[in-house]
Amino acid sequence: MGVGTLVILSLVVGGVLFAVIKTKSKAVAPSWIPIEIRVTILPEEYDQDLQVSSPSSNESHTVNLYRLACSCADQQERRRYHRGDLRRHCAHLNAQLRAGDFTRRMPPMAAAVIDGGYTLGRRTEMFQVPASEEPNSFVPVLISVGDVNDWANVFGPDNSGGVRQFGFDVHAGQWADDAAPVAADRIAKYILSTVR
Ligand SMILES: [Zn+2]
Repeated sequence: MGVGTLVILSLVVGGVLFAVIKTKSKAVAPSWIPIEIRVTILPEEYDQDLQVSSPSSNESHTVNLYRLACSCADQQERRRYHRGDLRRHCAHLNAQLRAGDFTRRMPPMAAAVIDGGYTLGRRTEMFQVPASEEPNSFVPVLISVGDVNDWANVFGPDNSGGVRQFGFDVHAGQWADDAAPVAADRIAKYILSTVR
């Protein structure tokens, strides 16, 4: 093997290593986060601190869409969740993602949460329900319960093939507004057996 070949070989190896490292440093949500609540991480150019004020209160917060961090108390508590996990998001982060139309790149479940103006509760569960009479036809459902166990936000399939939020009154044991997702009875039974 001549010197020239060695030089070329090391250049190739170096190039491949560089490409691998570059890909690794790119922010990608880890695959162990359940797909339904896995959020696309924006490119590094969004690593900016934005001052946002909430219309409901006079508070102002610092939001960073790349780090998926906010200065509010709610988000500080959610930091234990990894970037790319929707449970990490406070209302301010989700509002910015919604305003920037970033949910179009997200899985339908995560998009339904953010576009609907929701955040995930402290307790979030996912499970699969039969979508139809067909065997092996299952669809994911996301159940989010707040601090008080009297209400569940359910993100699941509606009858027109979309995914959206449904409200379930845990105390009354019934769906809100006469609207219920696919496999409503099974989901209700599940909520009542685990939450109440
Ligand atoms: Zn916040």
